[in-house]
Amino acid sequence: MEWMELDGSRGEGGGQILRTALSLSMITGIPFAIEHIRAGRKKPGLLRQHLTAVQAAAQVCGAEVEGAEAGSQHLRFRPGPVRGGDYRHAIGSAGSCTLVLQTVLPALWFADGPSTLRISGGTHNPAAPPADFLIRCWQPLMQRMGVTLDLQLLRHGFYPAGGGEVLATTAPVSAWQPLHLDTRGDLRRQSVVGVVAGVPVEVAKREMQRAVSQLGVLDEELRVLPSNEGPGNVLLVVLEYPEVTEVFSAFGERGVPAEAVADRAARNARLFRNSCVPVGEHLADQLVLPMALVGQGSFTTHVISSHLRTNCKIIEEFLPVHFVFEESETCIQISLARPQI
Ligand code: ATP
Repeated sequence: MEWMELDGSRGEGGGQILRTALSLSMITGIPFAIEHIRAGRKKPGLLRQHLTAVQAAAQVCGAEVEGAEAGSQHLRFRPGPVRGGDYRHAIGSAGSCTLVLQTVLPALWFADGPSTLRISGGTHNPAAPPADFLIRCWQPLMQRMGVTLDLQLLRHGFYPAGGGEVLATTAPVSAWQPLHLDTRGDLRRQSVVGVVAGVPVEVAKREMQRAVSQLGVLDEELRVLPSNEGPGNVLLVVLEYPEVTEVFSAFGERGVPAEAVADRAARNARLFRNSCVPVGEHLADQLVLPMALVGQGSFTTHVISSHLRTNCKIIEEFLPVHFVFEESETCIQISLARPQI
């Protein structure tokens, strides 16, 4: 099969171009060569998280790989057939477990049998989906598309220590279902979750109190973890609608008051709540790949990130699909309609 040539500096110029290429190369069998990996980032090239994604992908499909070294800005990846099995990978830093999972899982939906995938590293990282987001928001939508998936957070891991672990159990998909997520229904429940590990519990309590004052009455959950799972602190705001559960997060940082952390999560939750759409900024860019595998589907969102546009473009290079963006006064609808691959 002919090699696909990719430029990692395109659009967003981040790690998603590589992760999407890995997933779709495994699924389609198309080998790819990528240059300028993460050229748009301060520290370009493969970081531990990206390297683990490459290694995990190579393992599940027996790929031939060149350039898989820390810092490398180019990679050649020739996939073989995807095999179900029990896989285990350690990122060896606080690199995001969830991003590695999202790279490999789609390929396992096309494997020859069921799989488990256990990844250790960071489970709650700024600039990546927290494990709670994957479990509460992304997983139910994958299940609606026909995917068998059980995600478990075995141990929390925060930047910079890492040491967390997630376990995914999945199987080949027998019947894909198109997802149309164009409305969300009325808000059913809103909750706030304060998580601390090796950080005073008062920090989480102050964050929760502030979020409650910003967003109105919320159910509260305080998660106090053993201090050896930290140090780490995250505040999650969970909005549950009949059609979707969205999760907004903000991370505690040294020198940043708990109230400022809560304000960040509350601001994003409020923006979403004031809109009428079911899909927030981050979920949007994580829905397009699975939707393209189904070959049809649609959703509405309230913001288009450059991340989303870049991801759509790379998906369109691998699959015979085309994303249509239609903007109205209140929302943006993103849809595609093509036969299943
Ligand atoms: P880099 O961009 O530095 O290469 P990266 O490979 O870690 O870093 P990105 O390419 O930026 O990551 O992709 C980050 C992914 O994490 C995107 O899918 C984005 O939507 C998702 N994400 C970021 N923040 C959140 C959040 N708070 N909740 C859910 N998902 C998030």
